[in-house]
Amino acid sequence: MRRGRGRATVVRVDNDRCELYGICVAEAPEVFRLSDNRLRHGRRIDPADETAAAAAARNCPMQAIRLRESAR
Ligand code: SF4
Repeated sequence: MRRGRGRATVVRVDNDRCELYGICVAEAPEVFRLSDNRLRHGRRIDPADETAAAAAARNCPMQAIRLRESAR
């Protein structure tokens, strides 16, 4: 995912779809983690983690992860 100047990639997870399989944690451990039976993640993604986050979104079996570009 390429970002324009002054833009950031934002991650959202649809908790109604997420089944806590943890594939996203394996794909992008700097972005996602499981704690207390909940999926936790930061809102804005470090540019260095964008490729891993995109792989997590692609491989989520529930298609629960959305990445979008946002103004900083
Ligand atoms: S891979 Fe998808 S379903 Fe599994 S924990 Fe991550 S967001 Fe939830």
